[in-house]
Amino acid sequence: MPETAQGRDEIRERLARVRSRIESAALRSQRAPGDVTLIAVSKTHPASIIRRAIEAGALELGENRVQEADEKIVELGSDSGGARWHLIGHLQANKARRAVTLFDLIHSVDSASLARRLNRMCVEVGRNEALPVLVQVDLAGEATKSGISETLLPELIAAIKACERLRLLGLMTLPPFFEDAELARPFFRRLRALRDLHRDRGDFDEGRGELSMGMSNDYEVAIEEGATMVRVGTAIFGERDAAR
Ligand SMILES: *Cc1c(COP(=O)(O)O)cnc(C)c1O
Repeated sequence: MPETAQGRDEIRERLARVRSRIESAALRSQRAPGDVTLIAVSKTHPASIIRRAIEAGALELGENRVQEADEKIVELGSDSGGARWHLIGHLQANKARRAVTLFDLIHSVDSASLARRLNRMCVEVGRNEALPVLVQVDLAGEATKSGISETLLPELIAAIKACERLRLLGLMTLPPFFEDAELARPFFRRLRALRDLHRDRGDFDEGRGELSMGMSNDYEVAIEEGATMVRVGTAIFGERDAAR
């Protein structure tokens, strides 16, 4: 099927709309719009669509599965020039080796064993630079979801700090889904408080401590609460095919 010009323009327009909302949310909370990085979440969308987003200036891309990302990154090849890849989904131990080669930042570290494995893989594959990671915190106590509980967070942070090839940059969370974005606000506020606490202890490799929080439905609220990275899929690429 030929790619329509409309499809191309549509992604560009959606991206512009999201960027302008990010800017407004930052300004109304006395923040510099440049403090917020937009991660375009391209999961389930084919390389041809991702290429359009890259052409429209989306250079930070988020995927939630290693295998799927691998295929698309390989297919994009040199077309993905300049793009950086974020792993935002749960990472299985047996995918750690490939993940440290493919991704620029892993948002979903949630156990000491995974951290140590990533550290080991960095050595084994000869990754030149230390791998930047975030800790995913489960604030809702949803046992079915990935993420470390608040109680175990200090222990995990200590374990990551002992990993020479990892750089701990901050925290990530995925609150339960609410129609009303305001209901997610307490979760964002809580993650920020945890970030502040650990930043004051000097736990993050780059001073400020990143806060990866906010999705299509609630990224503006997340920015008001301090998000430095928002992970936005649907608002840029449209609805995902539920069958995938
Ligand atoms: C899919 C996904 C997103 C983006 O969700 P949208 O609602 O489509 O913006 C963000 N974060 C994670 C962890 C995801 O899996």
